[in-house]
Amino acid sequence: MNILIHGLRGSGKTTQAKLLAETLNLNQIDTGTMFRESFDTDAGRSAKEYMDKGMYVPEKIVFQMLKEYIDKTCDKSKDFVFTGFPRTLAQIPYMENELSIKIDKVFELKVRINILMERMEKRKTLENRHDETPEAIKMRLTEDEKKAGPVLEYYRDEGIVEEVDGEKTIEEIQEDIMKKIRG
Ligand code: AMP
Repeated sequence: MNILIHGLRGSGKTTQAKLLAETLNLNQIDTGTMFRESFDTDAGRSAKEYMDKGMYVPEKIVFQMLKEYIDKTCDKSKDFVFTGFPRTLAQIPYMENELSIKIDKVFELKVRINILMERMEKRKTLENRHDETPEAIKMRLTEDEKKAGPVLEYYRDEGIVEEVDGEKTIEEIQEDIMKKIRG
């Protein structure tokens, strides 16, 4: 089963994806982390310019880096858990046709905006993330609403989206997701 964990920045989606990957023995891909790990390459440097402004990285760069990343780090005999991708409608056909990966289940982590802002403020101090300035945060929320919103709608229309309360503890959220997977 290929899984997408959807949630705004600070919703805890990557933490949940990592746990899920361990439990279900899946490849785990988070495009935000992929970019941050490659800031010392040419493609990574140009991705950073967009990220620092809170803008989405252009599709051409995303696709090129993702393909290489999957070839290098993934075991193709295993299924995937994704966070951060697909993030625009244009990324869905790329995923399905070029990467031959079809999402079977989407978990949407629901967290209120004021709680997300508090979490991001803490993380900025802890992890020194340069793209978490107030301007970048505001821009990112606009980008997410405009571009990532339709992705969720697309999967909602397919009937594969499950909402999860993202304000519970890490363990409780993971348990809720696992219960929904086991059915
Ligand atoms: P995240 O860690 O998921 O919040 O992603 C951090 C930043 O990386 C985003 O604000 C975007 O600028 C960029 N990014 C991550 N994934 C994608 C994607 N699939 N398409 C375009 N930009 C992305």
